[in-house]
Amino acid sequence: MGGLPVYLDNAATTAVDPRVASAMAECLTADGTYGNPSSSHAYGREAARRVEMARLEVAAIIGAEPGCIVFTSGATEAANLALLGTARANADRRKHLVSSRTEHRATLDPIRQLEKEGFAVTWLTPDSDGRIAPDAVRAALRPDTLYASIMHVNNETGVVQDIAAIGRACREAGVLYHCDLAQGIGKLPTADVARHVDFGSFTAHKIHGPKGVGALYVAGQARPWLRPILHGGGQERGLRSGTVATHQVVGFGRACAIALAEGARDGARMRELRAALWSALASLPEVLLNSPLDDGSPAILNVSFPGVEGESLVTGLADLAVSTGSACNSASGEPSYVLRALGRDTGLAQASLRFSLGRLTTMLDIERASEAVRREVTRLRAVAP
Ligand SMILES: *Cc1c(COP(=O)(O)O)cnc(C)c1O
Repeated sequence: MGGLPVYLDNAATTAVDPRVASAMAECLTADGTYGNPSSSHAYGREAARRVEMARLEVAAIIGAEPGCIVFTSGATEAANLALLGTARANADRRKHLVSSRTEHRATLDPIRQLEKEGFAVTWLTPDSDGRIAPDAVRAALRPDTLYASIMHVNNETGVVQDIAAIGRACREAGVLYHCDLAQGIGKLPTADVARHVDFGSFTAHKIHGPKGVGALYVAGQARPWLRPILHGGGQERGLRSGTVATHQVVGFGRACAIALAEGARDGARMRELRAALWSALASLPEVLLNSPLDDGSPAILNVSFPGVEGESLVTGLADLAVSTGSACNSASGEPSYVLRALGRDTGLAQASLRFSLGRLTTMLDIERASEAVRREVTRLRAVAP
């Protein structure tokens, strides 16, 4: 994909930072730290030392105690562990859950599964700007509510939820709070988010780390509510059995350390590029912005082009890494359920593109991309019946 004349880094995934890659490479071969971190011989102990250093780095990006970090294969597994693991452990006393219609599939699908297993779920609908009012969360909580699961930053629109207020509402009601943190890390300041949530799921590959590794933050007070969903060797304090993937975890740690040191600068730069992209696209007649410009994620810009099929646009823009929604959902060809939940009709939802910016995006990329989009939208509108 390096040959793409215009490369807009995709929020669905990012290239591994070379500094991350070299830290990972040190943990693979015979001359490196290839031991099993659970083994008590010297090779194992050296691997365990690197895993624990990475745990410190991963914990720091959300302001957590390192002992509260459980390494998983990604945010999907982390969310499944929190959502299924607490629900199944407490099904005899709390059978009500709260979430929203605009969550990532990693949250929606486990909760839908729990619905089939007999849990009652209140699905909140966001305002037309994508926000879930903390008061709406508060109003949905019942004496038998086990948890609420409301994400930090939406992966299609970049809307940021007030997780401090949502966390407060949950705490006051004695309800657990799980938050999908995958899109906020490295793009927004997150050094205090652990204070607001009981469970937090995130993943390395959205912040220039490797695919296939992530973490679940489990606050001390939430630990007794959680039971594992994988059973075996008892790694990760019994919460996630299976040999810890040293190289993956070390890469994740390095990616978090870099994001902590450089995220503010990257974020400010991305915010400028995003504003430039929007102002170039807004010069087309009839375009609609689906992302909040001022306080949304700097990495995401979602725009509707009425009268144009998003899929035709993606096909016509072969040089651009853009998508009509989330990468996980675009295979289905369905119009985005996130935009539909915001009240956009099917036609408008189908006429939308998500642009994602990253550490590697340049102003030249933005200029070329907006130029190509303007050309293609104008062409498709001219040939439309
Ligand atoms: C990417 C993403 C996930 C899933 O992460 P994986 O590493 O693929 O499991 C979950 N939630 C959000 C908001 C995401 O952007």
